[in-house]
Amino acid sequence: MRDGIIAGVLIFLLSAAAVVIVYQSAVSSKLKDALGQLRPQAEYLASLVDLRAHAWLTTRQQTNSQPHTALTQRLQNMRQFYPGLGKLFTGRYKNGKIEIILDTLDPARGRSEPHYVARPLGIDLAPDSPEIKAIQERQTFLSDQPAFQGEGRFLGVMVPLPNPDFSVRDFLYIDSSYETVAAGLVTARKARDISLLVAGIFAVIAGMTVFSWRSQSHFRQMLAVTRLREGEELFRSTYEMSPVAMCLTSTDGRILRANKAFCDFLGYSESELGKLQPSDYTQAEDLKKDQPLVEKLRDHQASQYQTERRYLRQDGQIVWGLASVAIVRDSDANISHYMTQVVEITKRKLAEETLSLSQERLALAADAGKVGMWDCNLITGRAVWNDVMHAIFQTDAKNFAPTLQAQEAFVHEDDRGAVAAEFQHCQQAATPYEQEYRIVRRDGEVRHVKASAIIFKDESGKPIRAVGTHIDITAETEESKELIRAKEAALAADKAKSEFLAVMSHEIRTPLNGVLGFVSMLKNTRLDSEQLSYIETMESSGQGLLTLVNDILDLSKIESREIHVESSTFELRPFVRKIHQQLEAQAYNKELHYDFLVDYSVPKSIHSDPIRLGQILTNLLGNAVKFTEYGRVELSIGARPMGLHQKNWEWSFTVRDTGPGIPPEALPKLFQLFYQVDSSATRRHGGTGLGLAISQRLAKLLGGEIRVESRPDEGSEFTLVLLAPRGEQVTALANLAPPKPVESSPQKVLGKRILVVEDNPVNRKLCALQLKRLGCEAEFAETGFQAVEKVRIGQFDAVLMDMQLPDLDGCGATREIRREEKTGERLSIIALTANAMPEDRKKCLDAGMDDFLSKPLQYETLATTLSKWV
Ligand code: ADP
Repeated sequence: MRDGIIAGVLIFLLSAAAVVIVYQSAVSSKLKDALGQLRPQAEYLASLVDLRAHAWLTTRQQTNSQPHTALTQRLQNMRQFYPGLGKLFTGRYKNGKIEIILDTLDPARGRSEPHYVARPLGIDLAPDSPEIKAIQERQTFLSDQPAFQGEGRFLGVMVPLPNPDFSVRDFLYIDSSYETVAAGLVTARKARDISLLVAGIFAVIAGMTVFSWRSQSHFRQMLAVTRLREGEELFRSTYEMSPVAMCLTSTDGRILRANKAFCDFLGYSESELGKLQPSDYTQAEDLKKDQPLVEKLRDHQASQYQTERRYLRQDGQIVWGLASVAIVRDSDANISHYMTQVVEITKRKLAEETLSLSQERLALAADAGKVGMWDCNLITGRAVWNDVMHAIFQTDAKNFAPTLQAQEAFVHEDDRGAVAAEFQHCQQAATPYEQEYRIVRRDGEVRHVKASAIIFKDESGKPIRAVGTHIDITAETEESKELIRAKEAALAADKAKSEFLAVMSHEIRTPLNGVLGFVSMLKNTRLDSEQLSYIETMESSGQGLLTLVNDILDLSKIESREIHVESSTFELRPFVRKIHQQLEAQAYNKELHYDFLVDYSVPKSIHSDPIRLGQILTNLLGNAVKFTEYGRVELSIGARPMGLHQKNWEWSFTVRDTGPGIPPEALPKLFQLFYQVDSSATRRHGGTGLGLAISQRLAKLLGGEIRVESRPDEGSEFTLVLLAPRGEQVTALANLAPPKPVESSPQKVLGKRILVVEDNPVNRKLCALQLKRLGCEAEFAETGFQAVEKVRIGQFDAVLMDMQLPDLDGCGATREIRREEKTGERLSIIALTANAMPEDRKKCLDAGMDDFLSKPLQYETLATTLSKWV
């Protein structure tokens, strides 16, 4: 409103001023015109004045003189021609004063006082007034406010009148009433008034327009302000409530404003934040890192930057934030503030750190373990290798782009097919890939690698990725080859040793056969008691030597692992009874209580190796009988099922005696080779100290062990514990258990024709003597082929066949004889050999022989066996 009024008034004033100026200029032009018309009148009237007479008129006394009257009359008369004239007189300026010389009467006004020559004007004029100046300078003077008129408004013109006296100045003055001019100004005044009215109206309209415009603009402004306020409010609440931490900082890093999220982020209030230095809540090195980025902002190269930095919370905790920093510039484009938004990324950072740490560890482990690692996209074939992979394949990590194809191209030509097939198979079956193969490196060197991989499939089951490792195993391969070679060499050496022992045993056993055989023969001749005692000593020494040779042979076979456990199912009770019976005679001779107990819970049959089991039990029973002088020796057997399905049973074979017992300190050494507790007792009883060592080893081979409990002077208890299944189908044991000594029946063998196949002449001779004593007819062959030939042409009731023969060995000859035999015929062939091991027995039986006699051959044994087969 105010603006409208001001605008209206202003416009009115301006318009009025313009109107007034126009009007005034019209007035002044009118005045000028009027004065312009008055001037020639004054000049004409001045020309009518007789200047000489006028100059003569100087005093009052000259009033009404003729010149005075004539001159006055002339001028008075002129008035009728100029009706509008006011004053008309002539004057003189002399000595600073103005006197009127000639004066006329204005009939409209009359005269207040009588005129006389040189009457003072009666009006004081300042010496520097324009009238005085014009008089002094003899100039025509025009004025719309002449000083010579005392009242009313007039237009006056003063023209100089020449006077011979230079000290005085004469002039003529006329004036005219302003009314004449005013009459001429009526139109102008009307125009002025109308103009002023129009100006007034225009001013009102303009004022209202301004008012309305101002109102609108004010409204708009108000609206804008309201909107701005709303916007600001919105911004403020958005800023305050934003989950993103935001702060406004000064250029020196001090926080000026911070929203709630930022305060929560650092654990400070906004006012507390304002008091902090940047170093109080950030890390100096992080700030340093920002410097180049800030420089970029300053140089207008960027408007914002992002950086990851650590913030120090009030509680001392360090948190990571992703800060987006933008600059705020002032009107001069200088940086005034920084606006920072922070998103907490501590978890991400920790996860990244953990990941990079584990990746670093993995890489370190891979490097340290020289494990080549690769990751291959099976669709594109592109792969990523670690440095070790490049080292294995001798490729340059910078120039070589690994692919599956390139990887396959390195595979040795001979292995390529197998590698491709296996990898293909693993892709299809989605099973882990693992393979060892050779690669040919760029330098041509062949290396052995072990490759492993895991295949990844997409949802449709298509293999898309393979991640794997390569390890250079060239050294290990070479080493294992070397080890295999060494093992083979060791085995060969073992075998050689075993063979050597077998040969040795055979070679010792052969002459021993002669010695023992002839000792046995000699024993049956007529001898005195002294000779008999010598012969018996010779016999027991020979037997001792034989046991030793057998034990050493056994041991060497066990150690060189040439002994194989051959399990079969057999009936336990008859088996154990036979073993028990073998030592019955010895126990009887010592008057021992010799017993054998089988628990009722023991299954009927067992699945194990009867030869080894028999060997162990014979040794344990033999020791018990050997070392026990009084009391009893007892073998008891128990068994209990193991596990849910009772497939396996725990069997216990316990040999208890009331012998001398074993001192506790000797127990741990009992199973050592050649260990004997009491050498004097051994001397008394004989023995080698190998029996228990061999038995324990055999027990282990059977899946068991021998445990011992003993108290000196009370007795010993040896228990063989073994895990073995109970038997389902029983096989005959006839040939497995050692034969029971039977009474010889010379009647049965009398006159029988026996072919003895023996290359050793001593043994041939011994055999001949023994057979002769039995009443048999002996025929001899020295080689395998001779034997086959003799069987082919001769008639024999039985063959005693040596195993080791010069050309065709005993087994070969037997096979040949069996091959040539007609159906229904079967010649009894009995092995007679120095190879005394159970394996040898089996070998002979497998070759087709019927029985087995080991050297040294006892006369009784020969008689019994022969009577069985002829
Ligand atoms: P050998 O009987 O040939 O001496 P062994 O290895 O069978 O060898 O036995 C080792 C030693 O253990 C024997 O010399 C003996 O001292 C002791 N020994 C074995 N069995 C018994 C037993 N039943 N009673 C007392 N001592 C025994």
